[in-house]
Amino acid sequence: MTVVDLRSDTITQPTPAMRRAMAEAEVGDDVFGEDPTVRKLEEMAADRLGKEAALFTASGTMGNMVSLLTHCGRGDEMILGDQSHIFFYEQGGSAALGGIHPRTVPNQPDGTILIEDLEGAIRQDDVHFPVTRIIALENTHNRCCGSPLCADYMKDVGNLAGKHGLKIHVDGARIFNAAAALDTDVKDLAEYADSISFCLSKGLGSPAGSVVCGTKDFIARARRARKVLGGGMRQAGILAGAGIISLTQMTERLAEDHENAGKLAQGLAHIEGLSVDLANIKTNIVFFDLKKHDLSTESLVKQLEEQGIRILALGPRKLRAVTHYHISSKDIDHVLDSFKSLF
Ligand SMILES: *Cc1c(COP(=O)(O)O)cnc(C)c1O
Repeated sequence: MTVVDLRSDTITQPTPAMRRAMAEAEVGDDVFGEDPTVRKLEEMAADRLGKEAALFTASGTMGNMVSLLTHCGRGDEMILGDQSHIFFYEQGGSAALGGIHPRTVPNQPDGTILIEDLEGAIRQDDVHFPVTRIIALENTHNRCCGSPLCADYMKDVGNLAGKHGLKIHVDGARIFNAAAALDTDVKDLAEYADSISFCLSKGLGSPAGSVVCGTKDFIARARRARKVLGGGMRQAGILAGAGIISLTQMTERLAEDHENAGKLAQGLAHIEGLSVDLANIKTNIVFFDLKKHDLSTESLVKQLEEQGIRILALGPRKLRAVTHYHISSKDIDHVLDSFKSLF
């Protein structure tokens, strides 16, 4: 039985081109700055995002951690969305390891944070208060249906941050999905970010790795933060080789994943017993709710699994399906047929 695995875009396997690039990568000791393949990936990434320099990290979590540790000192405050990955899914690492105080404000359903909410959260100069240092945004926004934040919104946040002397970090794990969905250059989405991290190992298919981009000075300091986290890898060009293929061969095809996600969402919306918020589904993440009360998400997931379909249950009513490189339009037909047979 072929398995249609829609749990996450992290399950993507490296492409044949990646495996070749990994086997043939020229490598050196990257902690000595001597791995030519890592250097090439970092240069390519910085260039793509319109930044001076970049740093290869083991994961997206490490990319965010390294960035926050570099921007903030202990007791500094970070303003971020209450649905953000950094707040939800990273063990509170910025507080645990960096002493960075999180100040959450509501994420709107489209992943943005109202400018007035951001402005209202910025601290005045008062001995009682922590010092606001940074605004952290997420693009695309994972828990908000993978919504992309557009360049105009980034500019508004950039102006606010500029006015108050704050830094901006963008958790751009899926920034190339955002660029594809908005049909813009990824540079335009990164312009107001003092640092931006993106994942090579999700829709871009690499087996591991993320990249942080920023100024030369920022990246030099981030390199120290990466080392203290144990992220100084030696012949990391084996991984960076795959990352180069991600950047050169995998970004242009993301629109296909979005088309498949749209088709899936439309189909699910027509099934009685399910509800889909179609308005916010613009990339590869489809959240939907189970309305049929004699069925639990757990047992639905089990029944789908028996038909070779994997999705995630994220609560008693909430489900998630994510499209990626291994999912075809025909797979979506098969998934919709299975849903119909179960409802
Ligand atoms: C996956 C993800 C991360 C973390 O990446 P890992 O490589 O899993 O550590 C960070 N932010 C967002 C929005 C993500 O989706």
